[in-house]
Amino acid sequence: MILVLLGPPGAGKGTQCKRIIDKYKLRHLSSGDILRSERAAGTELGKKAQQYMDSGALVPDELIIEMMVAAIADAGWNCVLDGFPRTTVQAARLDDALKSQGKKIDAVIDLQVDDKIVATRITGRRSCPKCGAVYHIETLKPKRQGWCDNCIDTKLVQRDDDKPEVVANRLGAYHKQTAAVVGYYKSVKATVFDVRADGAVDDVTRAVFNKLASLAA
Ligand code: ADP
Ligand code: AMP
Repeated sequence: MILVLLGPPGAGKGTQCKRIIDKYKLRHLSSGDILRSERAAGTELGKKAQQYMDSGALVPDELIIEMMVAAIADAGWNCVLDGFPRTTVQAARLDDALKSQGKKIDAVIDLQVDDKIVATRITGRRSCPKCGAVYHIETLKPKRQGWCDNCIDTKLVQRDDDKPEVVANRLGAYHKQTAAVVGYYKSVKATVFDVRADGAVDDVTRAVFNKLASLAA
């Protein structure tokens, strides 16, 4: 099964993916996480991506597509995609790559949240640099303030691109380049589920699971 989770940065894609992968036994593939680990490992790809990520711009399509198709193949074509595709070019190239393997996307979930809400979600996000767990300073607090629940001795950090000056650029890139991806999927008659995602985490999960249940029916 291949699912795609769309939505602006801070919509809750990563948070919902963690719950979807538990229920549906899929690999969570976040293009942002993969790029951050390429950067941490100091690879050529990581070095090329750095300037774009730091300014809140999208990394060029040609760097992303190959990286993600390789990750999807490695996941045995069983995954939920988070943060990819982010342009209509990426979406079309992904479709071509899947078609060549006799695969297709089972469903696209579009998490819809207003900019004002995502801005407070992003600036309050804190994550564990060791295990990747994601918290929020108001809505999803760790048991001990500032420290990861799973990796007890690891201090939570704020991503550099979650600071207010970069967030505006990331939201701009979303509206300019990524919002059209849902229209692309509707135009090729993919199964697209629109989900309001401004409510509490559990409410959004319930709405997502309800939609996904209709796939199996
Ligand atoms: P994305 O992967 O779309 O960028 P995240 O899943 O990392 O978004 O969520 C962004 C921030 O908002 C995190 O700090 C997360 O804890 C918080 N968050 C996610 N979903 C909700 C929600 N429904 N209500 C309140 N806070 C949320
Ligand atoms: P994210 O973790 O999804 O918020 O992504 C962090 C940053 O990585 C983005 O602001 C982009 O610079 C880059 N990035 C992640 N995924 C993509 C993608 N599919 N296409 C282009 N750039 C991406």
